[in-house]
Amino acid sequence: MEKLLLHVCCAPCSTSVIEELSKEFVVYLFFYNPNIHPVREQELRRVESEKYASKLGLAFYFDSSDVKAWFKMVSDNKWATEKSGDRCYYCYEDRLRLTAMKATENGIGYFASTLTVSPYKHAEMINEIGKRLGDEYGMNYLERDFKKKNGYKKSVELSKNEGMYRQDYCGCVYSKLERLRIKPYN
Ligand code: SF4
Repeated sequence: MEKLLLHVCCAPCSTSVIEELSKEFVVYLFFYNPNIHPVREQELRRVESEKYASKLGLAFYFDSSDVKAWFKMVSDNKWATEKSGDRCYYCYEDRLRLTAMKATENGIGYFASTLTVSPYKHAEMINEIGKRLGDEYGMNYLERDFKKKNGYKKSVELSKNEGMYRQDYCGCVYSKLERLRIKPYN
């Protein structure tokens, strides 16, 4: 089987995606999410993801986050519409780019992201970025919308069965503020 590096945004989203991809690939996990605020929340999600990787016996990589660089990257678009606005575009791209680079460094031929499993993320935008980065790095981006075929529903069920921590906002401080104003996330 070919190797695939899967960018993991959080443990709950990874559950059904890992289940699906493990049928086709040798899956390696990569946690890189400098968008998650505050840092203790980022740590909480990383630890939960690493714990699940260890339970499944999967290799788990993570990269340290430059939080200041992330804030600078979105500074002109911080109040853009969540999901499809420019803030999310840059946030998706940053995480996918590092995943493509990490896969290249480690001789892994494919990369993908758990991001499309969530109905709160823009799957078409994510896939368009992934394909472009795949071309740029000479890598195979796996274009999928993981929420299809009940992928999101399965991820909720699996993560609840595992007793995983489930956050109530996407990750950045702006999404946290939106959530406080509008509606519950999960
Ligand atoms: S809402 Fe989510 S995807 Fe969009 S910028 Fe914030 S953390 Fe990134």
